[in-house]
Amino acid sequence: MTASVWSDHQGEELFGFARPAWQQQGACRGLDPNLFFPERGESVKEAKAVCAPCPVRAECLDYALENHEALGISGGLSGRERRKLGRTRRLKEAA
Ligand code: SF4
Repeated sequence: MTASVWSDHQGEELFGFARPAWQQQGACRGLDPNLFFPERGESVKEAKAVCAPCPVRAECLDYALENHEALGISGGLSGRERRKLGRTRRLKEAA
């Protein structure tokens, strides 16, 4: 199946939730979503290379952080990298 990371439901409701319009501008649109959800030990370089020039990378990263998306590459970061960034942001906000 060929679809973007954000599935074929971009700009529509999915499971009762409206999908953000920016998702339609993602550089991953039309790519195999499996690229962004590598198996343990598989490289994430290719997915990150797609994200790097993505025009909605910041929106994607914020969305992933706000929704606690733990898996896959979103906004150019892995789940572990997003958790670390989230902790750093929360510490800065608390300071
Ligand atoms: S940052 Fe990456 S995962 Fe997010 S929309 Fe862009 S290409 Fe897709």
